[in-house]
Amino acid sequence: MSAVLNVEGLHTYYGKSHILHGVSLKVEEGELVALLGRNGAGKTTTMRSVMSLTPPKSGSVKLFGKDLTRASPHKIAVSGVGYVPEGRKIFGHMTVHENLQVPPDTSGPWTIETIYELFPRLYERRTSKGGRLSGGEQEMLAIARALLLNPKLLILDEPSQGLAPVIVQEVMRTIARMKKEGMSVLLVEQNAMLALQLADRAYVLSDGEMVYDGSADELRADKARMEALAGVS
Ligand code: ATP
Repeated sequence: MSAVLNVEGLHTYYGKSHILHGVSLKVEEGELVALLGRNGAGKTTTMRSVMSLTPPKSGSVKLFGKDLTRASPHKIAVSGVGYVPEGRKIFGHMTVHENLQVPPDTSGPWTIETIYELFPRLYERRTSKGGRLSGGEQEMLAIARALLLNPKLLILDEPSQGLAPVIVQEVMRTIARMKKEGMSVLLVEQNAMLALQLADRAYVLSDGEMVYDGSADELRADKARMEALAGVS
């Protein structure tokens, strides 16, 4: 197995605030890896560092064997990374169908047709404005948009945030399906239990440092440890 993502020793700042203190993590091909941690632990900052939206001051980001530390976010995306940011960031004033009119990458299985097969609800709502969708539908739309780029690595930042439990289950089933189709996934979650049900391996961040790096099942089985490290939600 080769690493699709290999992050080593990231130090990232917002102005003078030193947020990440030497963060390292890996995602191997076909793996689903969970990145957990309490509110404010630095999960989003880690993703923003990987995508070069907040470039790290030091450390390295290798994607698919290439050093892409501080490369442009566009270059990182086209290298094969689908990033679904926290808060979804879909276009509220555009219809579902218009939101899905991203330049298609014809080299993979995801096209607007296969997307509508996977998400029949999006097909039903294709003429609705993004802003009129429920939270769950918006999350599906954000994932669908990322999939149209036929990424090799999908990075999801808190996909369960603000969703009703039944919808969360649906989103999780979609993520499990992505993994089954061979996609590598980095799943950032505050809801540790949920993410650990799907993940092969897990990392836990606390105050910008990794405090756990190991099997997802082991962490899930050790409730006291999970509570201490990540909080149980
Ligand atoms: P959450 O679940 O709340 O998103 P998180 O683990 O993703 O938490 P980050 O968003 O990475 O955490 O935040 C890490 C730290 O960086 C927090 O202390 C936060 O207050 C701080 N921070 C985040 N964004 C900025 C910013 N734009 N400017 C200054 N500080 C920031």
